[in-house]
Amino acid sequence: MNYLSTRGAGAGERHTFSEILLGGLAKDGGLYLPADYPRVTADELTRWRTLSYADLAFEILSKFCDDIPADDLRALTRKTYTAATYCNVRDDESAAQITPLKTLGVEEGAPLSLLELSNGPTLAFKDMAMQLIGNLFEYALAKHGETLNILGATSGDTGSAAEYAMRGKKGIRVFMLSPHGKMSAFQTAQMYSLQDPNIFNLAVQGVFDDAQDIVKAVSNDHAFKAKYKIGTVNSINWARVVAQVVYYFKGYFAATKSNDERVSFTVPSGNFGNVCAGHIARMMGLPIEKLVVATNENDVLDEFFRTGIYRVRKAAETYHTSSPSMDISKASNFERFVYDLLGRDPARVLQLFRDVEEKGGFDLAASGDFARVKAFGFVSGSSSHDSRVDTIRDVFQRYDTMIDTHTADGVKVAREHLQPGIPMIVLETAQPIKFGETIREALLREPERPAAFSGLESLPQGFEVVPADVQRVKDFIVANTGE
Ligand SMILES: *Cc1c(COP(=O)(O)O)cnc(C)c1O
Repeated sequence: MNYLSTRGAGAGERHTFSEILLGGLAKDGGLYLPADYPRVTADELTRWRTLSYADLAFEILSKFCDDIPADDLRALTRKTYTAATYCNVRDDESAAQITPLKTLGVEEGAPLSLLELSNGPTLAFKDMAMQLIGNLFEYALAKHGETLNILGATSGDTGSAAEYAMRGKKGIRVFMLSPHGKMSAFQTAQMYSLQDPNIFNLAVQGVFDDAQDIVKAVSNDHAFKAKYKIGTVNSINWARVVAQVVYYFKGYFAATKSNDERVSFTVPSGNFGNVCAGHIARMMGLPIEKLVVATNENDVLDEFFRTGIYRVRKAAETYHTSSPSMDISKASNFERFVYDLLGRDPARVLQLFRDVEEKGGFDLAASGDFARVKAFGFVSGSSSHDSRVDTIRDVFQRYDTMIDTHTADGVKVAREHLQPGIPMIVLETAQPIKFGETIREALLREPERPAAFSGLESLPQGFEVVPADVQRVKDFIVANTGE
């Protein structure tokens, strides 16, 4: 399997999976995609139906990472996808399924269900990919006798998923910047209570954007970056996207009896990483009817799928909402879909994303390309704080099921795209405890707390407060990477 850049870097330049695993953007600023999507055969679909999650992950990943020896890859997926890691389930019997399907009911003739993706260590779907990435990185680094210092900025979910995936991993250190005093008590405790010697929490005196700017400044210092082996694990990482393809297959098998049936998925979306994996599953031949993109008030993606206009938002136009993990001003993985939409024409992708940088967006409404969005199965919708609260309340009353704010955005938009006879699977991207404030507002009661998290907020916390100053962060890294 070869990988190429969506912007056509050095036409003909190709990379293996292992080469792009530890990197971010391609040299030309594009994103990596496989040269072609592997197609699944009818026989494979039949055979895969009964596999464990770990072995299904092996089958799918082996099509994309054929440069990793099969025995090694199987060992990695079996080490990653265990009931012990994804143990924060509603009922114990479902732990072995890793991503259990929870049936809600039938609405407008369509079976409606939740695919639980947030039973991992940090209670958000990012664990699904990140846990695998931790093991893949450790494996790849050991093979070449290398080390890596991961530098990131987080406002909550991504940072903790990365830390829990990398804790105790050989050859890896994590330096995670978070805005001091700006995360929820639960999220703060989740990150800062980690005591592993390879995890460094830096509480930046500033807001998330200050932390993000420091990461960018350090990454742009190429000499520093090379000397201290700085890397990232942000949402454009291809391995993260491909790891997410697996649960679309798993969800399909759980919701259907035969491979003649079709299903739709609704995906609470921010950076388009999760739903991009759904697009890839569909391109591989998984019988997906619709991919429903659900946004919150930050509706960049909804606007595009409704109108053909992609208009990134300025900082002042980016709202802080009660589904904060979807508060984005541009969708960093979107370029991967645009590449396919435009018939894989890198010159046009380059032009469009230049327009994004120079003019703040592009307009495909008039071009024939936008009409093809339907052929790719995409539709969309958005939500507000009120609809979020209403949906949490409604799902609780009607189905005795507590859902988080992001998942509520999914359910709200899913209901606008139901088709009789076609199962609608909403991806559950986090557990309610992570966003307790809105649960209390909607239900006038405390969010459910998985047993393993009782007393989390009273565990001892370790973190280093730093001013929003690039040099101070660099000094900290230098001081803590000595052998
Ligand atoms: C990250 C995240 C999202 C958005 O996922 P994308 O891949 O960025 O589209 C949605 N919900 C939760 C809870 C998240 O943590």
